Amino acid sequence: MQKTTTEVWDRILKYIADNLAAQTYRTWFEPIVPVNLQDDILTIQVPSQFYCEWIEEHYIHLLRSALRKEIGPNARLEYQILVDKKKGAAPYVMRVPTVDKQSVANPEMKVPIGIMHGPGGATVYSFPGINKVRVESNLSPSYTFDNFVEGECNRLARSAGYAIAQNPGGTSFNPLFIYGATGLGKTHLANAIGVKIKENFPDHTVLYIRAERFINQFVEAIKKDGMKDFMIFYQNLDVLIVDDVQEFSGKEKTQDVFFNIFNHLHLEGKQIILTSDTPPTELKGMEERLLSRFKWGLSADLSLPDLETRMAIIRKKLYYDGIELDDEIIEYIAFSITTSVRELEGAIVTLTAQNILNKKEITLDVAKKLIDKFVKNTAREISIEYIQKVVCDYYGITVDLMKSKTRRREVVQTRQIIMYFAKQYTNCSLASIGQMCGNKDHATVLHACKTVKNLLETDKTIRSQLEEIDKKFRIHN
Ligand code: ADP
Ligand code: MG
Repeated sequence: MQKTTTEVWDRILKYIADNLAAQTYRTWFEPIVPVNLQDDILTIQVPSQFYCEWIEEHYIHLLRSALRKEIGPNARLEYQILVDKKKGAAPYVMRVPTVDKQSVANPEMKVPIGIMHGPGGATVYSFPGINKVRVESNLSPSYTFDNFVEGECNRLARSAGYAIAQNPGGTSFNPLFIYGATGLGKTHLANAIGVKIKENFPDHTVLYIRAERFINQFVEAIKKDGMKDFMIFYQNLDVLIVDDVQEFSGKEKTQDVFFNIFNHLHLEGKQIILTSDTPPTELKGMEERLLSRFKWGLSADLSLPDLETRMAIIRKKLYYDGIELDDEIIEYIAFSITTSVRELEGAIVTLTAQNILNKKEITLDVAKKLIDKFVKNTAREISIEYIQKVVCDYYGITVDLMKSKTRRREVVQTRQIIMYFAKQYTNCSLASIGQMCGNKDHATVLHACKTVKNLLETDKTIRSQLEEIDKKFRIHN
């Protein structure tokens, strides 16, 4: 019996260790001694009442799922607390019922979790029901699904987001990890999901927070001895949206605390939505355990909108601003500005300001002048489309052929050269470069970049060809 108890406890600990920050695990779980396992009741000994309370408050969900996994659905936990040792009092026992199905379905019934009886039978502690506090969502009402234009560039992320809004926490997209370069709509989309959830489920507590703000809150909480409140606040959310999680990079303590919050919410079936400027696989300075969790649900990228989508976005913005422009002008803007939606908006603002200030109709000529000036003034990134066109022209093949499945040597090489330049000159992720070059994955792009680098070192002809192509990009810049 003793052996099985230890074995079972060891397996439970392993599960817990995998779900907690190392420091937390050492502090709260290593000192626990397994005492007995009988009739699905596991008795463990903890050093103090405070210990017991803390574990109950912070790790009960984790413990519960570990118990169920290792012992079975009827698993129960009892604590022995070493109190009043000096006075020779017997350790007393607290029983923690496992949640039944009903209380899982009804979050209001979660608490109180347990009641502890002191040696004299008096209740010494009961877990207070945490009342749902009103949480200010921080959502911006102007970023919605309605004004988020759909296109190939955002289809996956958008539809996953929409599905989540119908059933937060209930889809396999948990977390939803939205990534893409700056100005492509991550904040807009994440916010739109939050707004939709609030529309569909007014009672859900939704929080939108920028990662930077989260870090500051955490630092404040430590300073002001408010960690407990901080954790309670976050662990009670129904939906947590963290914008720009790449900001957590290199911040170990923040990652630890976020890791705990993430696990807690995820175990509870609460929805987590994250945005980042890089895919989880390319995030630097991030704990592996956290990265692996980011990949649990769905990672969806936002890429540069194609011409048609850019035009649709311009039309929508103009419509909201109550301004009309000729199609020719809209086309010209969409053709000229290929970097991000944010710049597209900047150009529209420039144009419409002109219209309002001068009370003049905007003609194509005026628009061209303004837009050209705008494009020159903004540090311009070369688009993948442009790179594709230049390289394909140079080698005399069509862009369509380059994107096709053919394995002809010269086509494969052209494709690899495009990938190489795209990595060098754009902010696109490896995944989105691959996607735009015939639906290849990020590993293929990585391989292509290595191959081309090798060729540059070993093959003189290729080197001079690439130098020539490179000039076009530099002039363009
Ligand atoms: P990111 O967070 O990725 O840097 P934002 O969400 O701040 O980008 O988007 C930049 C601007 O572009 C915002 O004003 C946003 O409304 C707009 N935008 C981005 N994508 C779209 C889209 N698909 N439809 C309409 N507007 C968009
Ligand atoms: Mg943003």
